[in-house]
Amino acid sequence: MANSIWTIEEFTCAGCSMSYTATREEHAEAHSGSFKCRICSGVVHSWSGKHHFFGWKAVTTKPPVFGRRWADAGY
Ligand SMILES: [Zn+2]
Repeated sequence: MANSIWTIEEFTCAGCSMSYTATREEHAEAHSGSFKCRICSGVVHSWSGKHHFFGWKAVTTKPPVFGRRWADAGY
């Protein structure tokens, strides 16, 4: 527990443009994993290397409208 460096990073889902934040933690050993979007189940971010992401949170600036296509996303 000598050098624990945590940084917050932000990711946006390519499928539905939902934004998430996650805490990045540096490790001495390699980790790998991925996080899937809670809305469209697309992979928001996958990683492998000497770091890990945890504490994923959806950035809710406005409540998502379920049951409706994201027609205004601009994609
Ligand atoms: Zn999504």
